[in-house]
Amino acid sequence: MTDTATYDADLQLFIAGEWRGGEGREARPVFNPATADTIAELPVATAADLDEALAAAERGWPLWRAKSFDERAALMHKAAGLIRERADHIATLLTLEQGKPLAEARGEVLSAAGLFDYFAEQGKRIEGRVLQRPAGQRAMVLKQPVGPVAAFSPWNFPVNLMVKKIAPALAAGCVVIAKAPEETPGCTSAIMRCIADAGIPGDAAQLVYGDPDMISRHLLGSPVIRKVSFTGSTAVGKHLMKLAADNVQRITMELGGHAPVLIFDDCDLDATLDRVVAQKFRNAGQVCVSPTRFYVQQGIYDAFVKGFAERTAKVRVGSGLDANTQMGPLANERRIPALEAMIADATAKGARVVAGGGRGEGGYFFQPTALADVPLDADAMNHEPFGPMALIRPFATEEDALEQANRLPYGLAAFAFTENGRRINRIADGIESGMVGINSFVISSHDMPFGGIKQSGFGSESGPEGLDGYLVTKAVHIY
Ligand code: NAD
Repeated sequence: MTDTATYDADLQLFIAGEWRGGEGREARPVFNPATADTIAELPVATAADLDEALAAAERGWPLWRAKSFDERAALMHKAAGLIRERADHIATLLTLEQGKPLAEARGEVLSAAGLFDYFAEQGKRIEGRVLQRPAGQRAMVLKQPVGPVAAFSPWNFPVNLMVKKIAPALAAGCVVIAKAPEETPGCTSAIMRCIADAGIPGDAAQLVYGDPDMISRHLLGSPVIRKVSFTGSTAVGKHLMKLAADNVQRITMELGGHAPVLIFDDCDLDATLDRVVAQKFRNAGQVCVSPTRFYVQQGIYDAFVKGFAERTAKVRVGSGLDANTQMGPLANERRIPALEAMIADATAKGARVVAGGGRGEGGYFFQPTALADVPLDADAMNHEPFGPMALIRPFATEEDALEQANRLPYGLAAFAFTENGRRINRIADGIESGMVGINSFVISSHDMPFGGIKQSGFGSESGPEGLDGYLVTKAVHIY
């Protein structure tokens, strides 16, 4: 396949069971980041659209909530089946508008189908408690759906991160208005088609796009919305938390990270290098749990930097539609000057560029980049690069490594490579992070919680904990 693969997205809003297109609405361009070409126009929601979506959510919640868990699960399994059937088409749209290699896009779509299946079953396991009291009396703890949800998901994993909110919400008996990313609307609209075609009522799952600030103010300003779930930057998360305060809406926040990777001198260096370089450049580094700060024990530091640079130079960059491509373009042009500024700042402060270091050719390409000897006061060591950039510096002792890992206000993911069992336990205990990968980057699975601490957010997505965010607790005392 080539870049000329057809972008046949059906870009519409889905409100109250109705697909709504242009019809006088403003439109935003959608770009192919591999070519920088405009490939479509996306109609955006008006205030009237949002009011209708809110009214539909209010109407639809009691009806969806009244369905049995089995009935809801059957519809969700059907949505999963349709996503699998249409996976090739959805993945092509995702690659054309986001840039990631097609195989990664396909994996993301199939993972979203798995999330529907997982939460369909998990919804059947929502349990309360009955407490013993004197005869004739009871105390009960009930778990109930929180209510209509406003879900905001970003463009880096547009399919997976939207479904990570919609699937648990529906399984818990909530209804959702999803604001999907304007950069990547084709794949998310195709997912919403699967949900609608499966027979999930149109008032239960709705889809809007538009001006993110206008939409979040409008939805969070309504008392209909009882829960806000957001994935994106810490800055926007803080803003939404303030908006949610006015209506005391419940919140799940999956925000930025700046993942440290501790490389100890007892690791298998070659195998570790193969893994860390492949992982760093996955999705062009636009991953909230992307390994970013590489702290390497002194004795193996030079060999690590050399091996990292050699492997980085060999990463095959190109169109995501080319089967040979390992790393596609960035999704947004605005990240290019941001990364360039971080590199200029780091090198001015003494860092060395050992691989890449600048814009790539055409589209929104950026070279896979590695910087060594990066000082702690470099901007990139303190703010998430969110791009294909690795920052490497040495450490002397385990205590030193842990201190450096924990020095930022973020705490999403952290990784360590070592064969020392006691050290593994100390790191798992001592690292300030919502998720820890030891000798592995596999930290996301449907049945495990995914989420951060500190300024990386709170609440979990996935796993049984992912459902908790859509449930409220009610205590019933019977005398
Ligand atoms: P950004 O802060 O402009 O936007 C981040 C996301 O929030 C986007 O999806 C955007 O549509 C949405 N958003 C922005 N303003 C909003 C508002 N007022 N109400 C509701 N949603 C709003 O940043 P960006 O340039 O798109 O992405 C770069 C930064 O975003 C990165 O540095 C990273 O920290 C963060 N990010 C994190 C994740 C993640 O998975 N945690 C995903 C994407 C972006």
